[in-house]
Amino acid sequence: MAKVIIKDCTDYQLDLLKKQIEAGVELLGGWDRFVSAGMKVLLKVNLIGPKTPDTASITHPEFVRVLTQILKKRGCIVWIGDSSGGAIAGIAPTARGFLVSGLEKVAHEEGAVIKNFDREGVIEVTPSSGYLDKMYLAKPMFEADFVINLPKLKTHSAGIYTGAFKNLFGCIPGLRKAEYHRLAPNSKELGLMIADIHRNVNVGLHMMDAVTAMQGEGPTAGEVYHAGKILFSTDPLALDVVGAAMLGMKIEEVPILMSAKEKEIGESALNKIEISGDYDSPPNLPGFKLPKKFRSTKQGNHKVLVRLIDLLKTRPRVNHKLCKNCNMCVESCPVQAINKNGKKIDYSSCIECMCCHELCMYKAVELRKDNPLADAVTRLLHRFFRSHYS
Ligand code: SF4
Ligand code: SF4
Repeated sequence: MAKVIIKDCTDYQLDLLKKQIEAGVELLGGWDRFVSAGMKVLLKVNLIGPKTPDTASITHPEFVRVLTQILKKRGCIVWIGDSSGGAIAGIAPTARGFLVSGLEKVAHEEGAVIKNFDREGVIEVTPSSGYLDKMYLAKPMFEADFVINLPKLKTHSAGIYTGAFKNLFGCIPGLRKAEYHRLAPNSKELGLMIADIHRNVNVGLHMMDAVTAMQGEGPTAGEVYHAGKILFSTDPLALDVVGAAMLGMKIEEVPILMSAKEKEIGESALNKIEISGDYDSPPNLPGFKLPKKFRSTKQGNHKVLVRLIDLLKTRPRVNHKLCKNCNMCVESCPVQAINKNGKKIDYSSCIECMCCHELCMYKAVELRKDNPLADAVTRLLHRFFRSHYS
């Protein structure tokens, strides 16, 4: 039976983190089950871009610090790795991400090695989802003796939820991510491609940083929510089924997780997952805000009426007052739909992947209805249904 451990952890204070991480791993069989002295252990973080830890969009560097200390004490060699999304001046902002996030500082202070996946070479694998003949994944994922996946608990404006399963998309180095995303534009298709990654790499442990989580329009433009939890599992899908349940969602409502289920990446039935630690069922996170997309498609939200209005689609649009002209959105768009000078989006080419919204560091790419009247009516309806039916 798949196991998910949930531990309370109110903040990123080092002693508390250490105590709760040690207790969580113990309930999965203890560190000796996973690592031994001399092993190269890769901590696969979520470094979506050059963001600071207070934004709740990246794995918190203190979380990584504590794990590094624990593993170093056990005689392991620790690597910290990822590849960020998007591009600035033709390159992925991973190096800047390591610097801005504080992860580089942690690595320096704790004696770990930074593995920028964009610069470490690739291993060719053969995927089965049919979108590519060959897929290229970051070499450290194969060179490490043991990999620990460290996702963040976040909502996702396009994919609804992002956690352990989606975090391995960062194993695709640099700009290839956008190229692959163009071939698998919607969440279901992207999920099948990410399942290929899970099938080709060997991740032994998944540990979710949900001390702070992101609510609303994640994975970068949402708001911080103090969830105060750490989740542990050897099964990424089981962990996400529990994570999504904490946000009040079923796996059937998260297309990317349905792809993981289809490809048998792990356990998808909540009633077949043993939950232990500080809880024996998924704890509720009161007042947690889900993305607009989920609120407008959730069953029971008077879907006929809401869908009529949703015929006028939600689309990304650049707010010129907030835009800093960094061109991250322009260079990251997988179909080059954003004009460099005016930041005008060509909706006839746009595949609605929402990468521009996800990657803009200044929250300048907003998700709006095409028609201002529909936008206003939808918001009124959401407010009405929320106050009467939730
Ligand atoms: S919208 Fe955001 S990502 Fe695009 S150019 Fe402006 S600031 Fe940069
Ligand atoms: S403009 Fe459309 S296709 Fe391009 S990144 Fe934004 S949502 Fe994706």
